[in-house]
Amino acid sequence: MSENFLLSLNDSQQDAATHIDGSLLILAGAGSGKTKTVTSRLAYLISIGIDPASILTLTFTNKAAREMRERAFSMIRDDMATMPLLCTFHKFGLLFLKFHMDRLGRKNNFVIIDTDDKKRILRSMNKELTTALVASEISKYKNSILTPEMAKKAAELKLYQQIADVYEKYENYLRENNLVDFDDLLLLPYKILSENTALAKETSEKYQYIMVDEYQDTNELQDKLLRTLCSTHNNLCVVGDDDQSIYGWRGATIKNILNFPQNFKDTKVVKLEKNYRSTHTILDHANQLIDHNRDRLGKKLEGTRQKGNSVKVYESHDENEETRKIAEDIHKLINSGESARDIAILFRVNALSRSLEEGFNKAKISYKLVGGMKFYERAEVKDLIAYFRVLTNKNDNFSFKRIVNKPKRGIGKTTVDKLDAHSNNSGVPIFKLIDNSTPEELAVIVGKKNARTLKVFIASILDLRDIIRESKMRFLDNFEDTFDFRASYDNVPDGVERQANIDEFYGYLRDYFISNGHLGLEDFLNEVALASEQDEMGNEAVSMMSIHASKGLEYKHLFIIGMEEGFFPLVGDGSDIEEERRLGYVSFTRAMDELTVSFVHSRFYKGKRASLLKSRFLSESGLVKGSLKIERSSGYKKGDLVKHKIFGMGRVQKIMKVGKESKLTINFGGTKRDILSSFVEKI
Ligand code: ATP
Ligand code: MG
Repeated sequence: MSENFLLSLNDSQQDAATHIDGSLLILAGAGSGKTKTVTSRLAYLISIGIDPASILTLTFTNKAAREMRERAFSMIRDDMATMPLLCTFHKFGLLFLKFHMDRLGRKNNFVIIDTDDKKRILRSMNKELTTALVASEISKYKNSILTPEMAKKAAELKLYQQIADVYEKYENYLRENNLVDFDDLLLLPYKILSENTALAKETSEKYQYIMVDEYQDTNELQDKLLRTLCSTHNNLCVVGDDDQSIYGWRGATIKNILNFPQNFKDTKVVKLEKNYRSTHTILDHANQLIDHNRDRLGKKLEGTRQKGNSVKVYESHDENEETRKIAEDIHKLINSGESARDIAILFRVNALSRSLEEGFNKAKISYKLVGGMKFYERAEVKDLIAYFRVLTNKNDNFSFKRIVNKPKRGIGKTTVDKLDAHSNNSGVPIFKLIDNSTPEELAVIVGKKNARTLKVFIASILDLRDIIRESKMRFLDNFEDTFDFRASYDNVPDGVERQANIDEFYGYLRDYFISNGHLGLEDFLNEVALASEQDEMGNEAVSMMSIHASKGLEYKHLFIIGMEEGFFPLVGDGSDIEEERRLGYVSFTRAMDELTVSFVHSRFYKGKRASLLKSRFLSESGLVKGSLKIERSSGYKKGDLVKHKIFGMGRVQKIMKVGKESKLTINFGGTKRDILSSFVEKI
């Protein structure tokens, strides 16, 4: 078999792509061909006869996985009996659980809940605590492999004791209803593997070659999972860029990539030092910006492309003027023959998309908002999903409560609460409670009329369960006839739009059944639950998205809006200036040919107009002459305790920028000295 695809790689890329056994770290800057190298390596391994089924490639988004699959499969024969598994971490976890959930004493017809469901469940358990906080703390516990018991022990503050209590209740609820959240898709496989050595060995032997793209954004749990998967071999190839680590707030730890050579013995390290994506000019500004971060490896990244146009900086009064300028540019680009799919607008804060959307609608520019209000998050679509969940899983109280009165059938909140209380006390799911009781028994709990309605409702669902087993198509027709779900939106405000969504959903499900003959409703539900931010990307439309969603992607023409202090860098609780700067670096390096950055003097935000200063990133990247004086981040702040080899311990009193370094004024037990920051250590 010819290996022509290797010819389009440079020497270091080839070196990495043809490395077979042993651990391999590809550490390189943006646009240096990391993803290209991984996909070529996948093709190479197959071309030399390695069984495709023994290769596992993991990445972070479905969109990235799809693109990599296309790139890799175009290089290899498409008549292979088995295809290598190339998917997201979460998808891998899902597939694993489908086979092995029984090891936890649970059935494999579990249902994945989304973030919104999770919050709803948590709110129902505790109304006093801030749900978003509880949700994120629980997520952190899970990603640090802490059980509720461990979280309780570790909690010192009352707040954290309360959160740990909710965590325990939440876990019980998930288990009782056979639900799993996103974190479980990683945590449960890890748990199963660490408790079953034989299975761990077997799984590791099955996946002889493992590759991970965007490794800088893995967290502790993902790292542990990977180590377990590699327990019988050392064939792990990871690819990443410390300067693009942007999920610190979600527990990703850059340590995974920095310590990789220590954690895996005899690691071969390959550095890629040429950027093939961006013009020299764009790359130069991106490099200037990231150079202000202190905590980095400091890799080399040289451009291979021409100088290119200068980066444009737009200064506007407000967001309307900003949008007008960008819309004009986009019209010009499209009139000159550029394709809309090569154009994107990025922002740090999602809320900034609203003014763009309005402006683009007026200017008749078709756009796709990636990661905005997703189709599957619309109420009517979630209702349908809840119906289908109940159809596949009688234990799902959560979804049952959502649909029991949709469309309206006279079942009020009090009735639902009574059923819920009964179900909680007896441990029998509501569905089964109704099914197993006689109408008279049920009437004691909810009254005669409600008992009758509930019995009829349950009977319809049981009928549909039988029908779907015989014919999925007939089920679809019967579903609407049974519940008049679509019809319930006749003659209601915005009903037309909702019915259009319902039609689209039915159509989508029909297509799914047609093209996946062997798969059922449950598979569909899982697929839907994993649909990611990057999935709804359009073809002939301009893309708008958050910088987080743009990871790994590239666009010929790129606009970044909202370059203002407070918005970008985003300043708020727990914000980390170095991570903000990495986001800046990620955003600049998405651009191939042309980059425009934009800032305004004022923006309407959260109900009022705010005056804004331009972002420090503009001067740090050399785009605007230092009109804004902000200290180069040294990682030090006033009040920090530091240690000097000779002077001992002291406290920082002042920080000043000197060339590329920071000068600290430090009080060493009463004596003030000016010391360069690189000569002291933070304690
Ligand atoms: P990111 O850090 O943003 O994920 P990356 O390092 O994964 O970037 P790729 O997306 O693989 O980079 O490649 C960036 C661009 O450079 C792509 O358009 C790719 O086709 C091109 N490219 C990579 N290597 C080469 C090469 N050796 N010759 C020509 N073009 C290349
Ligand atoms: Mg990449």
